[in-house]
Amino acid sequence: MGNLQRFKHRAKGFAREVYARALFHSGLHRLVNRFMPARLTILAGHCVSGPSNSALPKDMKIRAEDLERILSFLELHFELVTVGAGVRRLGSGPRRSMVALSMDDGYKDNHTLLLPLLERVGCRATVYLESAPLDERSVNWTHKFFHALDQLGPERFVERYCALSRDAQANARLAEHRNGSARAAYHLKRVLKYEVEPKERTRVVDQLFKECGGVERALCDTLYMNWEEARALDAAGVELGAHTVHHEILSRLDADGCEREIAGSKAALERGLGHPVESFAYPFGRHWDYHEPAKACAAAAGFASATNTHAGVNLPATGRMELRRIMIDEDARLHLIVAEACGGFELLRRAGLDLSE
Ligand SMILES: [Zn+2]
Repeated sequence: MGNLQRFKHRAKGFAREVYARALFHSGLHRLVNRFMPARLTILAGHCVSGPSNSALPKDMKIRAEDLERILSFLELHFELVTVGAGVRRLGSGPRRSMVALSMDDGYKDNHTLLLPLLERVGCRATVYLESAPLDERSVNWTHKFFHALDQLGPERFVERYCALSRDAQANARLAEHRNGSARAAYHLKRVLKYEVEPKERTRVVDQLFKECGGVERALCDTLYMNWEEARALDAAGVELGAHTVHHEILSRLDADGCEREIAGSKAALERGLGHPVESFAYPFGRHWDYHEPAKACAAAAGFASATNTHAGVNLPATGRMELRRIMIDEDARLHLIVAEACGGFELLRRAGLDLSE
């Protein structure tokens, strides 16, 4: 990022803060909410911080007390719904604006910590599940990567990876980030996500994970829910949606690969739950992580909606295969969430000023 770009980014962040705080603390968000068209805001997280996810990065977790405070506030001003119910109501021109909480991947804490929290607040949520952890007790490559990186440190990780990988170009890119900076994990994961052939990466990361003493079944049992726990969420009224079989970047797969991942996860969940599954979330969820064949595949599989991870609210006219979501983690700020959910950022977007992201 150049200096000018960095300045613009900071200025935008500052303006976003000031605007959101003003709306929130003045109470004007109530007025904006009333006058803006009814909308569906979807929050997206992964884990409620707890012992089962202590090894996962900070941006995948939110503290229970913070989430409870956020949901309790939103409950006063919006209708809290599941994504499935919100999408159905969005089609019939809703009178009231809605907020849905969604959590991705299917982590253990969604059963041990999220479920009791939802019961305390008295609301529902949508949990998007990868199906391989449920059916095969296997975990996707990112967790094996975190495990190996944690054991080896960045320098040794890169050294071992390059010794095992045949991809010279990717090896050179990894070597640029070996020097243990605070952001090394982020940069290494980024290279492995976007610049390495997926099959080769999965093979090498798998081998490193085993070299570091990793046991996949045990890691899966620590991190992910099993079928019994998923069914307990289902029975409690939490909506379960699909999130592919193996959490692959869909834009790196061809149409057949997308079908295996997307339709395959729908079929697996419907087999395990015994009823239809109507909601889907793209893994990673940025525009470059899915493409037209993936969108077509999600629609053809019979999903009523698919969500990404770009910030914004969803209106009746929003394409159902590209619903937007607001990411929440340990840094989530209630005033920013409320400024989005009340339509405050949408109001500015309509005036040609996009402050939301
Ligand atoms: Zn995910």
